Amino acid sequence: MTMVSQANVDATTSASSTAERLRITEIFHSIQGEADAIGWRTVFVRLTGCPLRCVWCDTEYSFYGGNWRDIDDILAEVAAHGAKHVCITGGEPLAQKRCLLLLEKLCDAGYDVSLETSGAIDVSTVDPRVRKVMDLKAPDSGESKRNLWSNLDHLLPHDQVKFVIASRADYEWARGVVAEHAIDQRCMALFSPVHGAVEPRALAEWIIEDKLPVRFQLQLHKLLWNDAPGH
Ligand code: SF4
Repeated sequence: MTMVSQANVDATTSASSTAERLRITEIFHSIQGEADAIGWRTVFVRLTGCPLRCVWCDTEYSFYGGNWRDIDDILAEVAAHGAKHVCITGGEPLAQKRCLLLLEKLCDAGYDVSLETSGAIDVSTVDPRVRKVMDLKAPDSGESKRNLWSNLDHLLPHDQVKFVIASRADYEWARGVVAEHAIDQRCMALFSPVHGAVEPRALAEWIIEDKLPVRFQLQLHKLLWNDAPGH
């Protein structure tokens, strides 16, 4: 009887620790390079894996590999860096269901938490304290069919919708989506050029010419560190 009870305890413990693990590509301390929290010292937690394959993806190294880490272990490493801002990124972090628990625990610990997500996975259960930075994939990404339009109904005023633009056609698509779905009435809309595909100045001038209610951004970490891993 005692042995059966112990076996049950062991099984429960094992199930609970498995339930609180995530596959992590890297955790690093840097400067936030984009979106609303740009410029803040931030700890980045990059989760492994993504079901999309955007043609201009700059984090392909996060698709495979990584290490299983306990959520409490992740929290301890984040705390060691002494930053107020934490960004959960990928890959597509929400592809791992337990990401939701990590987000909740980080919010409970008092961090200012942001989540970078592709826009292809349901965001309705993300903790409302988290600032979602959600992509809507333009046609030149090769993945615009994956946009989950119902996600727009779960955006909060502190969230941001990001359009990564690789061409004039992408720009016109994004301009149409902002107008059709009143993105700027829901939250901040960000337009960002694909490095090496669209001249940043051209994109800035299109936005000015069309008087768009969007925020232009360049990725600061690319200017500072040329996108080296760990930044
Ligand atoms: S969603 Fe993000 S991580 Fe996934 S392929 Fe696209 S750019 Fe890369």
